[in-house]
Amino acid sequence: MSKLPFHSSTCGFLIGRFPDQMSVRDENNEQQILRVLGEGAFGEVLLVRKGDKGPLVAVKVMDMKRFTSSDDIKTFKKEAAIQQHLSNPGHANVLRYIGKRVDEAKKVFELYLEYADGGELFDRIEPDVGIRENKAQFYFRQLINGLEFIHGYGVTHRDIKPENLFLTKTDVLKIGDFGLATIYKNNGKEREMTMPCGTMPYASPQVISSKYKGLPTDVWSAGVVLHVMLTGELAWEKAHWQCPRYTSWLERALIEPWNNIDSSALDLLYEMLCESEDQRATFETIRSHKWYNKEFGDDEPSKKRVRITGSQPTFGTENGFGASETKIQMQPVPAMAFSQPHNILLLTQEYDHSINPLANMNSRLTRFCVDADYATFAERLQTACEEMSLEVKEKPPHQLMIFDHVQGMTMAVSVFEMFVGGQKRFLVDFRRSTGCGMTMKRTFLDLRRHLFDLICSDATTTLEVGGLKICE
Ligand code: ATP
Ligand code: MG
Repeated sequence: MSKLPFHSSTCGFLIGRFPDQMSVRDENNEQQILRVLGEGAFGEVLLVRKGDKGPLVAVKVMDMKRFTSSDDIKTFKKEAAIQQHLSNPGHANVLRYIGKRVDEAKKVFELYLEYADGGELFDRIEPDVGIRENKAQFYFRQLINGLEFIHGYGVTHRDIKPENLFLTKTDVLKIGDFGLATIYKNNGKEREMTMPCGTMPYASPQVISSKYKGLPTDVWSAGVVLHVMLTGELAWEKAHWQCPRYTSWLERALIEPWNNIDSSALDLLYEMLCESEDQRATFETIRSHKWYNKEFGDDEPSKKRVRITGSQPTFGTENGFGASETKIQMQPVPAMAFSQPHNILLLTQEYDHSINPLANMNSRLTRFCVDADYATFAERLQTACEEMSLEVKEKPPHQLMIFDHVQGMTMAVSVFEMFVGGQKRFLVDFRRSTGCGMTMKRTFLDLRRHLFDLICSDATTTLEVGGLKICE
């Protein structure tokens, strides 16, 4: 799923308007790179510790050598300026800006951000299933709080999707990735935007047709996020009359998966995913909606859709595993061979491999446990990828990368050797690297089907016995 073209920069007045809140220029201040948190279009996002015992921060490293036009640097400066603009005083549901640094000699631009230690909301969404309705409401309310805050500052995000909504271990949602954000309101005066941008399945009809307003754009995308949380599926590929699913939505056809959504939640979706920008829900109408205010009692099990196909167990390591760490031992398994040094940009220190891999495991639903020895597993994975026209490459030291060149999607696979009660198992963890998240999830499901016979049927029990909580 390709991104729509970038809006380069129409808000130059923002750049340099706000002074740095914290200097990160100190060359002598040692920074320890702990791991790669994710990949972006122009570089990696690294987890860094300042000094030996300093705070953990996320650093978005943009490699200027990858820039193709002078607009690219403007875009990143704008992203930093908008993050900074929103961080004073800041909001619990918006990723906090810490600082920025440009190194002309090394040709990198670094953006220092609050580290969200619970991963992406995207990782909590089980493909074809979603997440529990009460949990979806919990995240949705935080998303609306964060959005209302940024709109209060005249900012529209324009790329709201589960991959850009980060979580802390205590389940606080943080809106992140302001790479496409822009100012649409200044001194109470609103401007209309014309540059299509965002991610197609989350983009409103007006964004697609290049004439849109700030607030209804993010409300629309938040509606698609709610749909994905409640169903585990995208609503449609594109909000356009040529897309049959979208026209079914406009006709209010009650087909899969909409016929399984709670009626009040569906009503809210109709209001948020309303074709007319002027009639679309506002933050006020969302907040007063029945579903937004619905109370889920303890005794009333909230509805969760049941997966129809592929019933192999998946699991996520929920937070708070520290107490039982000793029961399971895990070792990252090296990629098949060591071919080339890892591309570390400005921050030149080595990764800290002494860190317990368990400490790096966020709750994620795209992983499984296999019984086979590593060579067999690697061979089967390779064959499955070939059958699915996917390319596999090693990413030393411990990862494999899977490329879908047709869909423009990349995923990273990490394999961990686990010893549970003396028994050896492999935990295989799939993470979206670039491209559309839901495409990655579909690919994950297909790969899981191909490797069906290798997946432990008792993985869930094994992990519970080993002290790892299972995701709901
Ligand atoms: P894309 O084009 O894929 O959206 P991007 O260049 O816009 O990428 P981000 O979305 O900001 O970059 O970051 C890429 C990934 O890095 C995120 O999806 C997330 O997994 C991880 N990441 C980014 N910032 C943080 C953070 N502050 N804390 C934890 N993880 C982060
Ligand atoms: Mg992103």
